Amino acid sequence: MTPRISTDTVLQKLDALHRPPRTFLDWDTPFHLLMATILSAQCTDKMVNRLSPKLFEKYRTPEDLAHAKIEELQRDIHSCGHFRVKAKYLKTASAMLIEKFNGKVPETMEELLTLPGVGRKTAAVILYAVFKKNDGIAVDTHVFRVARRLGLSNGKTQASIERDLMEQTPRAQWGKLHTLLIMHGRTICTARNRKCGTCMFCEECPSSWVRRKKDLANE
Ligand code: SF4
Repeated sequence: MTPRISTDTVLQKLDALHRPPRTFLDWDTPFHLLMATILSAQCTDKMVNRLSPKLFEKYRTPEDLAHAKIEELQRDIHSCGHFRVKAKYLKTASAMLIEKFNGKVPETMEELLTLPGVGRKTAAVILYAVFKKNDGIAVDTHVFRVARRLGLSNGKTQASIERDLMEQTPRAQWGKLHTLLIMHGRTICTARNRKCGTCMFCEECPSSWVRRKKDLANE
C-alpha cells in the first residue's frame, strides 16, 4: 500500500515533539530490561515499574532468578498477572542466560527469540534500547493502532504491520519509529478519545475525527 503520510514525515514531526524518545519501562541493566519486558506482557508498564525497584534489588543477576523459589517468585510478581507462566519464563530464561550466553543478555534477534517469554516485539525493544540495534520494529498495541490510523499499514496482524513499517522506513530509523509511535499512542492518539483536535497530523490523517474520518484502527 502507498500511505498518504510517509514514515519519514511521521519521524520528523514526532521526533521534534518527543525529545529524547524513551521507552516507558524502567531498567538499569540489560538483564533487568529483559525481566521487565517479560513481565509487561498483558500488563501495563506502570504496574511493572511499580514493582521493578523491589524486584531489581532482590533479583540482581540471572543466578538470583534461576535459583529463586518458584512460589516466592510467583508472589513477588503476582500483581503483573499471568504470574505462574511469567515466573516460569523468568526462571527458565535466566537459566538459559547462564548456560548458553555466559550470563549475559544476547545481542541478536535470533538468540533472543530462543528465550521463553521473548517474542519479536520484546526482542526488538531490547535490541534497540540496550544495544542500539535496528533488527525489527516492535509492534505493541500502540504501534498497531497508530500505524493503522495514520494509514501507514492496513495490516491485521503484528507481523504484517511490522513488515509494512520496515518496508517504508530506513533500517537505521526502525527503533526510533517504534519508540515515537508508542509515545504518540500513549499521549495523543490514545485508544479511546483520540485527541485529533490537538494532533499535528490532524489535517492529513485518514482517521482524523476533525475531518470526520472513520477510525481506521477499527476497520
Ligand atoms: S489525527 Fe487523530 S487519529 Fe490521526 S494520528 Fe492524530 S490523534 Fe491519531
